[in-house]
Amino acid sequence: MRAVGVSPSKKEVRLVDHHTPHISSDHHVKIRSLEVGICGTDKEICHFVYGSPPDGFDYLVIGHESLGEVVEVGSKVRNLKKGDLVVPSVRRPCPHDHCQSCREERQDFCFTGDFTERGIKMTHGFMTEFYVDEERFLNPLSHDLREVGVLVEPLTVAEKGLEQVWQVQKRLPWVKKNAPANARGTGLKAVVLGAGPIGILGAMTLVRHGFETYVYSRSQKPNPKADLVESFGAKYISSESVTVDQLAEQVGNIDLVYEAVGLSRVSYDVLRVLGMNGIYVFTGIPAPRAPIPVEADNIMRNMVLKNQAVVGTVNADKKAFQDAITDLGVFMERWPAALKSLITGRYKLDNYKELLLGDKSGIKNVIALG
Ligand SMILES: [Zn+2]
Ligand SMILES: [Zn+2]
Repeated sequence: MRAVGVSPSKKEVRLVDHHTPHISSDHHVKIRSLEVGICGTDKEICHFVYGSPPDGFDYLVIGHESLGEVVEVGSKVRNLKKGDLVVPSVRRPCPHDHCQSCREERQDFCFTGDFTERGIKMTHGFMTEFYVDEERFLNPLSHDLREVGVLVEPLTVAEKGLEQVWQVQKRLPWVKKNAPANARGTGLKAVVLGAGPIGILGAMTLVRHGFETYVYSRSQKPNPKADLVESFGAKYISSESVTVDQLAEQVGNIDLVYEAVGLSRVSYDVLRVLGMNGIYVFTGIPAPRAPIPVEADNIMRNMVLKNQAVVGTVNADKKAFQDAITDLGVFMERWPAALKSLITGRYKLDNYKELLLGDKSGIKNVIALG
């Protein structure tokens, strides 16, 4: 069958003839790929920044943002059947007994670094016609969400990030007493840095959980992304027309910053204006560049005097996938047009080169196979 393979040793991205996988364990599920989302990680793998093939292969099948349909199940699969829609998680546990995280199905917090990731690190991904996985790594999705299901994996970034926020902020009376249980951010102010897919999905998540949400991104208004984020109730502020200090003045006490821009300069500049008892979540992975000046004394002073917390977050656990699926359902009910507009193009597998190596614009481009 056809698959998009990346060969770091040959510096090649090509269509490969990949073996069709078969069920070889009672817990296996065979899945037909319906849609695969493309993100910055895929593009970086295609530029050989990272990504490594499984042992015995000279290529890695890429793709980690998948929506698939079950075509066959092993005899011990309990909760999935032919025809069900599923979204697979990405990271697979490391083999070490002493890695408590992996042994407790929290490989998103793996201690050893010897985890694998489908489509990224030493395990083939989903940019192909069929794949097989264990039931425990698959998350069922309602058919009502077929059209937007490929957004589940990128949405897990915000879901895990927000879960970290609730846990870290438990140490103080941060959630307002009158905040409804399904909108615990009510009365709190959040700033999202960046208006790419991770930023926009993060902003949707924060609005849905009650936060007064601001998206701080480069392009001046009016622009399509500004219209989009304002259509679901966030406020868009351009960093070209509003400085970081003016942003802080406009927003008031910034309770939460959700960084989804991947650039250290603006990220550290905004850290400087994080509010009293605020929390700052980093999700971006900047490419290494030369050192930059940072207002370190100011930031350190604030972190102490304002009881601030800074958290980095990567990957996602089962709960983050389940929360993403739940929230995607809420987004679909509240903002169907905005949500659907995040998927800016559906392409055939043959278009992989322009999508992965070209400069095709759009928010989330998708390869549709099914
Ligand atoms: Zn991705
Ligand atoms: Zn581990």
